Amino acid sequence: MIAKRTIENLDAAAVLGQRALVRVDFNVPVKDGKVTDDTRIRAAIPTIMDLKDRGARVILLSHLGRPKGGVAESKYSLKPVVPVLEGLLGMPVTFIEDPATPAAIETTHKLPRGAVALVENTRFQKGEETNDPATARMFAALGDFYVNDAFGSAHRAHASTEAVAHLLKPAVAGLLMQKELEYLGRLLETPARPFVAILGGAKISGKIDVIQNLLPRVDRILIGGAMAATFYRAKGVKTGTSLVEEDRIGMAKDLLSAAGDKLVLPSGGVIAPALDKPELRREVAWDAIPDGWAMYDIDATTRTSFAGIVMGAKTVVWNGPMGVFETPPFDAGTLAMAHALADATAKGAITVVGGGDSAAAIEGAKLADKVSHVSTGGGASLEFLEGKVLPGVAALDDRTP
Ligand code: ADP
Ligand code: MG
Repeated sequence: MIAKRTIENLDAAAVLGQRALVRVDFNVPVKDGKVTDDTRIRAAIPTIMDLKDRGARVILLSHLGRPKGGVAESKYSLKPVVPVLEGLLGMPVTFIEDPATPAAIETTHKLPRGAVALVENTRFQKGEETNDPATARMFAALGDFYVNDAFGSAHRAHASTEAVAHLLKPAVAGLLMQKELEYLGRLLETPARPFVAILGGAKISGKIDVIQNLLPRVDRILIGGAMAATFYRAKGVKTGTSLVEEDRIGMAKDLLSAAGDKLVLPSGGVIAPALDKPELRREVAWDAIPDGWAMYDIDATTRTSFAGIVMGAKTVVWNGPMGVFETPPFDAGTLAMAHALADATAKGAITVVGGGDSAAAIEGAKLADKVSHVSTGGGASLEFLEGKVLPGVAALDDRTP
């Protein structure tokens, strides 16, 4: 991977008094006109503060939700973000309702140095999701240089993430984007060994490319979640009513033979007749799931053996919960992995969590600050681990040595 230029590489003259057009990820949950979780807004504050402190006029772009076909729907307005941002920055924030107007451009020019403006939802523009050049030109008119700090949106080639980066120069990474690229990039390029991947979640189909890309790079892949059941079937045993992708059993077979003993399956699971019958749950060996029962978590023996492997690792990447963690007590295996990652981190390992549900699990366990890095981009971090080039990253300037 080629390193990207970042805001830290810009000298004072490139920032002072200039209009910094910054793509952030303010795709936050909003209920009754109020932001219910400000995590993503807080994640962008270091970049905004840095640019502000260096005298830039900061203009923020973000999408929110999935408005259909570029139509402005009030429930997807970014307006509720304004008071939250004002609170975090301790200063007023100007809201630009319609960026496609001369008045909007004038507002950006009149913004005092160190001031901040937020533009309404980029997806209210028809050309945003089609990466339309005219839409990108409209966005580009709002700034003098471009910063992308929205790692979570970098896997999509949209006008505000891709096309605009070709129109405004320099086009550089923000501090959050930089952190994501550093931690995730190190996994694929220079991981300290042993390097262990923990993969779980519902479906093998969504993780197949990750497994394939990681296999030659890791020392071990630990498999959990429902995905394990598809592998069990590939080994020829019955899995009751466990979630299995019948059409991926052949693929699982191929992976098993390609991976050899690098790929470790759970030796047993926690089973129940249904998710709402946790009182009937019990542990069984991997090849002894009875008819009418489903595996909802990895068993205690597997938790201990997986934790032991994680503790011996110098690099760990975790994507996908070990069980139906949303429904306790089937969260025990997932929590055990969260704790194992925290313990490995304390021992000096580099630990990275990617994937929306895994990130939610480690945050729920209050251990997010005990691991090296929790990726803010669910889909983006998955594509990165698949080895794909993220268009929003590729479009940024390369760092010259
Ligand atoms: P991530 O968002 O971290 O990439 P995924 O979206 O791939 O993770 O998978 C998360 C989902 O997998 C969760 O909703 C969880 O309930 C489900 N899951 C995990 N283990 C099982 C299981 N044994 N049976 C059914 N669903 C499972
Ligand atoms: Mg998910």
